[in-house]
Amino acid sequence: MTPGGALAVARSREALGRELAALRSSGSVALVPTMGALHEGHLFLIDRAKELCDAVIVSIFVNPLQFGPNEDFRAYPRDFDRDVQLVAGRGARLVFAPDEQVMYPHSSPAVQVDPGSLAERLCGAFRPGHFRGVLTVVAKLFGLVRPDHALFGRKDYQQAVLIGRMVEDLDMNVVIDVAPVVREEDGLALSSRNLYLSPDERAAAPGLWRALEAADKLFRAGEVRASSLIDRFRETLSRHERLRLQYVEVVHPTSLESLSEAADGSVIAAAAFCGSTRLIDNVLLGARSPDPTAPAKSHGAGA
Ligand code: AMP
Repeated sequence: MTPGGALAVARSREALGRELAALRSSGSVALVPTMGALHEGHLFLIDRAKELCDAVIVSIFVNPLQFGPNEDFRAYPRDFDRDVQLVAGRGARLVFAPDEQVMYPHSSPAVQVDPGSLAERLCGAFRPGHFRGVLTVVAKLFGLVRPDHALFGRKDYQQAVLIGRMVEDLDMNVVIDVAPVVREEDGLALSSRNLYLSPDERAAAPGLWRALEAADKLFRAGEVRASSLIDRFRETLSRHERLRLQYVEVVHPTSLESLSEAADGSVIAAAAFCGSTRLIDNVLLGARSPDPTAPAKSHGAGA
């Protein structure tokens, strides 16, 4: 391991094993899985991870298994040197950056994690196979790193719920922490895919959050009918002609079932295209109730 608490980079399983042995000998380890093209949302997860464990490991792997055939796997932004600098600046101890051969030595794995019916809703309805790919790579990362804690962002709400269920249902020995969404000043949720946005699209993109905020405001004023909240959302979104709605739903925070009546802590989840870039976002309705995906450790569930 690099001396003095500096950042090491492991690209192979062997190097990972060596670095892990050294880190484990001096304490607990937290894993922050990412696909790279890092931004403040990812770095916030590293900061939280440092509070939970002695050493933070960041994985960087653009996982082909979670992209559909017509999705942006090839175009997905990659900037490894910049990522390593950012991770080093935040005090993580190890970057695990396997290539596809290291991660999937048998090409596509014959055995994969079945995410079940929770993956058929929301984003999963439009991205068949996506969550199977996500859970499979996350399960592999857990197997390789065996972290004490693993951190995920609530921006990918359905993903966070599914990972929580996988850990619970398959008795994986790792504590999941889910962090609130980190946003630009104008409300746009940070995302590596925001790099795709043209200046005009970038100007329109916060409209998705505005629409969620408008629905949340209506809920706080006493409206509980999901249809009314969704009408308010649609009305606000339609002011931004560059935004094309894919779905919006009011759902239960853990079962993800569609609700006709919202309650405190229900979630409105939505996806919209801005040009050809797909944006997702969500809001926990009401009085900033504790984050249901991370009841014990949420730092206030602010959106
Ligand atoms: P990705 O690299 O997009 O796969 O994201 C890696 C992790 O960072 C996932 O757990 C995401 O939910 C999380 N993440 C992405 N964007 C944000 C954000 N704006 N705020 C908080 N977490 C985020």
